[in-house]
Amino acid sequence: MSTNTPGTVVVCGAGGFIGGHLVGDLLRRGHGRVRAVDIKPLERWYQRFPEADNLVLDLRRIDDCRQAARGAAIVYNLAADMGGMGFIENNKALCMLSVLINTHLLLASREAGVERFFFSSSACVYAHDKQVDPNVEGLKEEDAYPAMPEDGYGWEKLFSERMCRHFTEDFGLATRVVRYHNVYGPHGTYDGGREKAPAALCRKVATAVLGGSRTIEIWGTGEQTRSFTYIDDCLYGTRAVLESDTVTFPINVGSSEKVSINQLVDIVEQVAGVRLERRYNPAAPKGVNGRNSDNTLIKRVLGWEPGVPLRVGMERTYRWIFDEIKSGRSVDAVVNAG
Ligand code: NAD
Repeated sequence: MSTNTPGTVVVCGAGGFIGGHLVGDLLRRGHGRVRAVDIKPLERWYQRFPEADNLVLDLRRIDDCRQAARGAAIVYNLAADMGGMGFIENNKALCMLSVLINTHLLLASREAGVERFFFSSSACVYAHDKQVDPNVEGLKEEDAYPAMPEDGYGWEKLFSERMCRHFTEDFGLATRVVRYHNVYGPHGTYDGGREKAPAALCRKVATAVLGGSRTIEIWGTGEQTRSFTYIDDCLYGTRAVLESDTVTFPINVGSSEKVSINQLVDIVEQVAGVRLERRYNPAAPKGVNGRNSDNTLIKRVLGWEPGVPLRVGMERTYRWIFDEIKSGRSVDAVVNAG
């Protein structure tokens, strides 16, 4: 299947980070009918494209999902109430309520005869006991079971993955599920409490540079490890899985370039040309001790894995966040890409 098949493509969560990039990517590839949906008022979307049909809807509601899915060939569900560790550790009920979005979108997509449904799951589905050591091996897809995912957010993702599976098995709705690992890049959240580590560190370093400060706060010990996936790789993986006729199971879309948070700070400092004094806050939310993506499966089935080096992606991300802060635009600033 090609995403250039005729028919409306719906991007849910289009006012957010990945959704905004996905709408832009679909339009650049010549897709004529793109419907972009988000609950946020249009002026708060990170990217907004006049060529798309931009709708403000609350996808927790079934009627709004019906409006979103009407006449659609493909539905991408990137809508969720989510954020970095600071948000998901303190808002478990809100994270779990995203189950309404995916459930109602699946029902509406089935009713509308959608050809393919995409769900954005997360590395947070992986069992906690596989992530206690910073020297973690990469997480393989089968490591999600026996289940003990991230509380709140991870449980919702794992449940919604299974909803997709059973809508396929019982109702014949073709679904595709990816487990994103820490996606970062420009045009996303970098302050306000929902930001993730790469954007938060770029903001802290940029703020220090602009304000003349010499210190930076790091959550945890800085020794916790992660891998970070640049948005261009995320878009490629999303498209490849959606178009695949064989990848009918949840699959990692994540970089396998593992670094500690301290090494990530080193990279941002190199990009910014500064050295800052690090103050560690062990009481702050820090998530699991170690997480990385095992890409054996995606290399086997798609002959590809994310390849943008962290240094390259972080340089682009830092430049964007630096410019945003310098120009005085707030997190809710309109980035009108059209
Ligand atoms: P984001 O917060 O930037 O975008 C999500 C969008 O969903 C937001 O614009 C929000 O307004 C919208 N939304 C929330 N509730 C809604 C509702 N009721 N109706 C309509 N829209 C609603 O997040 P993102 O980083 O772009 O992530 C997109 C998807 O990918 C999410 O499902 C997320 O859980 C998943 N994911 C992201 C990452 C990552 O590192 N960014 C990692 C793993 C999984």
